[in-house]
Amino acid sequence: MRTIILAEPGKFLLTDTTAPGEPGPGEVRVAVRGIGICGTDLHAYRGKQPFFSYPRILGHELGVEVTAVGEGVSAVKRGDRCSVNPYMNCGECGACRRGTTNCCEKLRVLGVHVDGGMREEIVVPATHLYPSEKLSVAQLALVETLGIGAHAVGRGKPQPGERTLVIGAGPIGLAVLEFLKLEGADLGLLELVDSRRGFAAERFPALRAYSNLEEAQAKSDATLVFDCTGNPASMHAAFKLPVNGGRLVFVGLFVGDVTFHDPEFHRKELTLLASRNARPDEHRRIVSLLETGQIDTNPWISERAPAMDIVMRFPRWLDPAAGVVKAVLEF
Ligand SMILES: [Zn+2]
Ligand SMILES: [Zn+2]
Repeated sequence: MRTIILAEPGKFLLTDTTAPGEPGPGEVRVAVRGIGICGTDLHAYRGKQPFFSYPRILGHELGVEVTAVGEGVSAVKRGDRCSVNPYMNCGECGACRRGTTNCCEKLRVLGVHVDGGMREEIVVPATHLYPSEKLSVAQLALVETLGIGAHAVGRGKPQPGERTLVIGAGPIGLAVLEFLKLEGADLGLLELVDSRRGFAAERFPALRAYSNLEEAQAKSDATLVFDCTGNPASMHAAFKLPVNGGRLVFVGLFVGDVTFHDPEFHRKELTLLASRNARPDEHRRIVSLLETGQIDTNPWISERAPAMDIVMRFPRWLDPAAGVVKAVLEF
């Protein structure tokens, strides 16, 4: 079957691999139809992804169609379209037992720690599929992206009307804004790139949008701030943005240390939170929010391409100036 392997940083290999056999008990074989491309894939391509080894088959944002079910599987059947939860948790560690499967101590993410979905078929546990009769494979592929936003907002616990500020309007920042809006928060955005700020302003008419740090610092007055950049300089500066008593949520990440000026941190009595991945209950809620149209990610998909065109297309998706919000590969 056709497979795309990231052989080393900067080098995709289009090749053939052996198709998976019949699924085992509790497993499902699925045909991969849509693959969302995100920052994680771009970092892996650039050689800057934490906990990453090569060669690797990327692809963790997946819209799939069931082709065979194993023994004991009743939740999905052949032909069902599904979203995939790519977070393979162990089910046994303390984090899993406490219900925080998103930060399982032995977590393996498809397309990051183990081979993912940039191939025609894969086998996954039935528990990691969310079927939908209404959603397209592209919408299903974006459930994971939205999950990052849903979980981050859950970490921040916004109050209705609370003044918030999101730093960065890539797909993760947009996802955070969607869930803040559902909570009735007052939305703010700091985004340096004009095209991205403009796109977000169109999607969220009540948005207060700032184009630089000084302006955001002077005017945003936010008690809850989300950094969605994964940029060290932005994360360092983010401590300046919440008002006294505020909360700061780090959604994006990078490989290195974040430092802050402790007297400033204490003077403001800030709360700093990390957010990692998402839980299955958050994914299920997203499927129903998409089905009922309360969230619409179709405008995000600015580019669709046949999977095997990746070598030609991918380098351009690395360029923020290209204005690609979200690209989806199709098999
Ligand atoms: Zn992703
Ligand atoms: Zn675990």
